Parts: sequence; structure tokens; C-alpha cells
Amino acid sequence: MLSESEPRPSEHLYAKVRHAIPPIEWPAFADDIDAIVALKKSRTAVILAHNYQTPEIFHCVADIVGDSLALAREAMHVKADVIVLAGVHFLAETAKLLNPSKTVLIPDRGAGCSLADSITPEDVRLLRQNYPGVPIVTYVNTSAAVKAESDICCTSGNAKAVVVSLGVARVIMLPDEYLAKNVAAETEVKVMTWRGHCEVHERFSAQEVRQLREDHPGVVVLAHPECSPDVLAEADFAGSTAAMSSYVAVKRPAWVVLLTECSMSDNIAIQYPSLEFIRPCNLCPHMKTITLGNIRRALETMQHKVTIPESIAARARLAVERMLTVK
Ligand code: SF4
Repeated sequence: MLSESEPRPSEHLYAKVRHAIPPIEWPAFADDIDAIVALKKSRTAVILAHNYQTPEIFHCVADIVGDSLALAREAMHVKADVIVLAGVHFLAETAKLLNPSKTVLIPDRGAGCSLADSITPEDVRLLRQNYPGVPIVTYVNTSAAVKAESDICCTSGNAKAVVVSLGVARVIMLPDEYLAKNVAAETEVKVMTWRGHCEVHERFSAQEVRQLREDHPGVVVLAHPECSPDVLAEADFAGSTAAMSSYVAVKRPAWVVLLTECSMSDNIAIQYPSLEFIRPCNLCPHMKTITLGNIRRALETMQHKVTIPESIAARARLAVERMLTVK
């Protein structure tokens, strides 16, 4: 408990997010932030937050932030007893796969993903039967049960490197059709695709990018590889959210648009207040089910615990660990 004279942890945090959160909204967040900071200490917990989490989560309570690849890597080095995953279910499962002895909590059990929902383990088994010997590369945005049927996982940050590392002429890449096509365009490898799409990134169109350029001459357009190849063809740069972040950090474009989930721009804009972000963004309804309120409840009640049957976990872990060895 804080004494009357002790400053509240939230007090110094508002300065960090004031460009993204109006002063009138801050008091509604401050109580939860103070409670979460105290609970993290008493539970020996850390919060891992995806780049698509809102600024009050990303900048005020998260201990580790990043894209799927960064969170997977960091999850392996977590010392705390409890990991709260501020993100969707497949991210929490990946953290659990890499930390089987730790308690991994997801604040909303229903935080799904259109890509993860687009494919089942039975689908993967059928593909293996129909294409024997062809390696199956599976995006981390899938359930542990789907990962367990795969040879190796990938993220948008390492998909090309993973495909090339296999040293084969043909791979099956699941489930994101656009990511697979975008990787195929960059390699000599024949990439067989599935019809899964991210409901956030599939909404961007090439026409929208052309219109943006007309409305904002000189704007630099960065696109996520879950966007269609047509959209990527209109962009100045394509890369994972981590790659977009690095691009902005290094090149500092005066006007920039990130074709990805809305909170990504909010979070980077806080770091670079002198740059102007144009925001034709799309919200991910699944990422947005995570709130300060349910993070606080997760730590208070130690719910919802992520569990994976060992028969699935052992094989899924192997697919994720193989990915992590790819440089
Ligand atoms: S942004 Fe797309 S890929 Fe990521 S969780 Fe949402 S629906 Fe899934």
C-alpha cells in the first residue's frame, strides 16, 4: 500500500502519454495504473504488451513491449513468476510454450484473431497428407494445436529468413495468404498459400494509398506484410511492426503513415512527437478487448491461466524454438 505522502506511480506517467490521452480521460486510467504497479510487485509479475496495445497499457504498465517475434524472444528470459500477456490468445500461448513452469495470464480469454481462426490442426494434417515432404511453415498467429502440426513457425519479422533457412524449393506457408505471397515475391522458393487473412490489414487497399499520396504529397508509406501485395507495391517500405519502428527511428520521415493497427501509430507518435503521423488506421477488435481494467482483474484474481496439453505443447514448442534459432 502507498502511504499518503508517497507519490502515486501514475503521477509521472501522464507526461509520457499526454499527446495521446486527453487530460479529462486520465483520472479514469490512473487508479488502475497505480493498482497494477502494486500488484505486479506483490505477485512478482511482468506485463508483456504487443505493439497494438493502447498507450495507457503500452507506455504505462508494460514491462516488455514489441511485436510477436520480440515478445516470443523476451518471454524466454522472463525472471518473474507470473506473465500477463496484454495481447491476443496466440501470443499468450506462445509465452506459455516458452515458459512452461510459469503462470501465464491473459486478461480476456476471448481475445482471438481472424488468422488463428482461419485454420485448424485437421487442415494442417490434411495438407501434410496431400503434399508429403513439403515443409510446413506456420505463422505464430495460430493456435498451439496448429503449431504442433507444423515444422517451423515464423513471424512477419522473420518469415523470409525462415523460408530461406529451410533450403528447399517448395514450402507450404500458413495461414496468411498475403504474408506468404509477399515472402514468395522476395525469394526463389515456391510458396504454397492458405486463404487466411488478418481482418485489420486486409482492409487497406492500393487505391487508399494512392489517395493518401495525393492528399499528403511527400508522405512516407510503411506497410505491414499482412497487407495485400497490391498495397505493398504502393508502399515505400514493408516490414513488421518492429521494422516499421526502426525505420521511423532511423529515417525520421517528417510525414509518415503506418498501414497497420491504430495503436501502433499512437505508440510511436508518443516516442517521436516532432513527426507527423497520418492515420488511416484500422482497429483490431481482438487486441482491443485488453484493457487496464481486465489486466488489473487478471492480477487480482490470477485469471485467466493459459494451459496447453503437454501432448500439444511439446510439438508446438519445437516449432517455435526452431524458428528462434533462425538468424
Ligand atoms: S491485427 Fe490481425 S493478425 Fe493481429 S490479432 Fe488482430 S486480427 Fe489477428
